Amino acid sequence: MDSTTFSMNRAELDLPSPVDHVRSPRTRAMVRVQNRMLDAAREFLRDESVTEIRPPIIGPVTDPGGRGAKQVDVDYYGRRYRLMTSAILYKQVTLTGFDAIYAIAPNVRLEPLETAVTHRHLAEFHQIDVEVAGASRDEVMLLAQRLVGHIVTRCLSDCQGELSELGRETAELSRALEPFDRMTHAEAVAALMDSGHPQDPGAEIDWQGEELLSSRAPRPFFVVDYPKGSRGFYDRESPSEPGLLRNFDLLAPGGYGELASGSEREYDYGRIVTRMRETGENPAKYGWYLEAARAGIPASAGFGIGLERLTRYVAGLPAVWQASLYPKVPGVFAP
Ligand code: AMP
Ligand code: MG
Repeated sequence: MDSTTFSMNRAELDLPSPVDHVRSPRTRAMVRVQNRMLDAAREFLRDESVTEIRPPIIGPVTDPGGRGAKQVDVDYYGRRYRLMTSAILYKQVTLTGFDAIYAIAPNVRLEPLETAVTHRHLAEFHQIDVEVAGASRDEVMLLAQRLVGHIVTRCLSDCQGELSELGRETAELSRALEPFDRMTHAEAVAALMDSGHPQDPGAEIDWQGEELLSSRAPRPFFVVDYPKGSRGFYDRESPSEPGLLRNFDLLAPGGYGELASGSEREYDYGRIVTRMRETGENPAKYGWYLEAARAGIPASAGFGIGLERLTRYVAGLPAVWQASLYPKVPGVFAP
């Protein structure tokens, strides 16, 4: 093993052996809860007339991402392809043929080594990824709230045994059925500064800040209006408040942190190219996507919920790796 590549070993992080993990009663209870969550998500989205699709797992380009995660290259007949870090580009283009879509799909991101200890990061995870043509940010925020509410309702009624085996405090979880609060990014920054936590007002909320806000909240809540420099080119800039994005994050209470990110999308070809340049992306890499945008992709809004993050919250797990059968903690060797 190359010690410059793998930063920590399994024992340092209290990770069990793969076989011990798979067969432990807690893991089996987690998988049953996750099964119910996935059924509930599909039930809910089917009733909302949202069509399930399967996005590619490799492509010439993927979401550029932020926060220092690296992409994984694949040799595709001599061309460099990438493993998907997010289905966002495909979600937007698919809306040329469908009104509302979702995918439950894997993503691979080589997250920075320091995320091995956040309890929130895996190098391989799944998203429940939803996109709705013509929708506003508020409409998809409400959709995300109702989707999480439906999943929690089903788990509370059908997984009592599993939740009790996992030691989940269900009174606390049922607060996810209350309306979610909302604060702006600027308000979140001010709250963090007031608590003595330094937070750059022009950037993503850092890992500790996210955990701090999350640990104080009684129920899931939204943070809206991230500043332009903090997110990718596809989050739409507010026409009325330049510099702010029409986007949101959904955070869980209890210190579990971010569950989902979403936004209204940029769909105008010229503005997409401008935003790519502003965010340091070379438009030439995005040929197929820009061709689609030039021909016309619909306005839309959507979000992606991290399946393992949501499982951790619903099941009350101490760390996100416990929400995966074969967890890949960043920088730790794993099958
Ligand atoms: P993002 O596009 O980065 O906001 O990712 C969408 C959602 O996927 C996040 O809100 C998280 O719930 C989840 N997610 C992102 N990165 C990771 C990761 N490294 N490990 C587990 N879940 C993640
Ligand atoms: Mg996010």
